Amino acid sequence: MRDDNCIFCKIANGDIPSATIYEDKDFRVILDLGPASKGHALILPKPHFKDLCDADPEIMAKIMPLAGKLGKAMKTGLGASGFNVVQNNGASAGQTVYHLHVHVIPRYEGGPKIVVWTPGKEEVAELEKTAERIKKQL
Ligand code: AMP
Ligand code: ZN
Repeated sequence: MRDDNCIFCKIANGDIPSATIYEDKDFRVILDLGPASKGHALILPKPHFKDLCDADPEIMAKIMPLAGKLGKAMKTGLGASGFNVVQNNGASAGQTVYHLHVHVIPRYEGGPKIVVWTPGKEEVAELEKTAERIKKQL
């Protein structure tokens, strides 16, 4: 449930101070120290889960509604016009802190957008093969 070497466990459970914007029995929401934009928030579950594969579905089910509530507050409170919800799993996906967290990043008119990629091209047959490989594991 808790990892003594994990900084987000310490922050989520209040052992290390943080710019907290929301707290309940399952989560603490803090402002990111290296924000992508003004108001960039991190939803930290209080229990320690390494990533989404390791997480409790009951707690995770509450995250999207909370992200929506935070995004709405960023719009009314900060004047954001949109927001991104981002969650990284594993080093190749950019995860740097191995305590599951969800980024809620307010976006402003004229400001940068996140999660930009150059669309590739894939044949339908290849999509079907890829779909099969994932479906077999579900
Ligand atoms: P990720 O790359 O998804 O693992 O995101 C980790 C995020 O945590 C980064 O955006 C960091 O800026 C942020 N971060 C790391 N340490 C702290 C901290 N002590 N307080 C607030 N944010 C932090
Ligand atoms: Zn932790």
